[in-house]
Amino acid sequence: MEDTILVVNCGSSSLKLALFDGQHRRKASGIAEGLLGDESFAQINGKDEKIELAPGASHAEALEALVSAFRRLGLMPSDPFAIGHRVVHGGEAFHKATLIDDSALSSIEACAGLAPLHNPINLSGINASRELFPAVPQIAVFDTAFHQTLPQKAYLYALPGAWYRDWNVRRYGFHGTSHYFMVMEAARLLSRTPATTSIISAHLGNGCSIAAIRDGISVDTSMGLTPLEGLVMGTRSGDVDPGIFDFLSTQGVSADEVHNALNHQSGLLGISGQTNDMRSLCELADHGHKPSALAIDIFCFRLAKYVGAMMASLSRLDALVFTGGIGENSARVRQKTIEHLHLMGFELNTGFNELDGQHMNGHIESTGSRFPILVIPTDEELVIAREASRLADTPETA
Ligand code: ADP
Repeated sequence: MEDTILVVNCGSSSLKLALFDGQHRRKASGIAEGLLGDESFAQINGKDEKIELAPGASHAEALEALVSAFRRLGLMPSDPFAIGHRVVHGGEAFHKATLIDDSALSSIEACAGLAPLHNPINLSGINASRELFPAVPQIAVFDTAFHQTLPQKAYLYALPGAWYRDWNVRRYGFHGTSHYFMVMEAARLLSRTPATTSIISAHLGNGCSIAAIRDGISVDTSMGLTPLEGLVMGTRSGDVDPGIFDFLSTQGVSADEVHNALNHQSGLLGISGQTNDMRSLCELADHGHKPSALAIDIFCFRLAKYVGAMMASLSRLDALVFTGGIGENSARVRQKTIEHLHLMGFELNTGFNELDGQHMNGHIESTGSRFPILVIPTDEELVIAREASRLADTPETA
């Protein structure tokens, strides 16, 4: 029997599954979208296999449908050896991945207050999966865990101390699984060990964050208490003056409305007035749409400022790394960002950049650049699968 590993990633209205074999090679992927809404649908391996879902299908129903399709297609002939779950917020309780037992489950529930949009959904995936596979070890892998090494000066806000003591208000950071994968991959590409590799890692997808990683350990990052802080994102504002809440209240806008706008109507979408999708923005900008060009400018300028900020935590830099849908694919964003960093000595090779670093082991810097610049495709699901199989072999708890 082959030791397959199933990875479950529940988003607000989506569920993604990835199936890996015992050598951690991806065997299949499944996705369900539009969950809890009128137009839910699911498919396996891209467009290969469509699966019917009832309108309003829940995450649990989607999981069951995708798992039975995996079985029907012969992709998962027996129960998986381990199941890994992506969990967004592990608070201060989780410094690393953990085997899910009742006590871990209640700690994850306790973190739900810190991530009300994410953790309850992640928990629904865990519960559904435990019901479906009661005998299989289930492992939680946290977006926050990798950043638990941040020093106090990086994670404490300059706020009344009681807010941290009483309510755990501090910076946590997210995308930790991807930033961790970046330092592992960068070390491999640079022929170093992860423990002696220092990078700045920019994860640019729909959500965006940047991390300073010193000798394999996260020492600063741009996201904070929630995934709203820091860089400009698809629909999230990133950093704004917190005074905005008070000012807009005088204009009759409630805190709830501001919160909603900062999360869902800001970022690239807010500036361009058109879309949160970087590829579409680039096309619009090419056709002379000025707000789209401006959105790209603001995105890159903020990112460059944060690269500078991350330097403050490092005494050596082995590479600046780009990843995520935008980081991996947008030569334009990388070029515009690096143009701001000329004074720090970053310089691109335009040809390598246009090719997304392919055939160059990820390298896109020019020979005169003070630091290597890398493009590395992320694979958070692979990291979750590796962690799940490691912990299922040698169980330990957080
Ligand atoms: P998520 O955070 O949801 O996983 P992704 O990492 O897939 O998102 O990133 C999605 C973003 O990547 C979108 O803004 C999309 O437009 C952008 N992207 C993907 N391919 C390209 C491309 N070729 N050029 C520019 N942007 C791209």
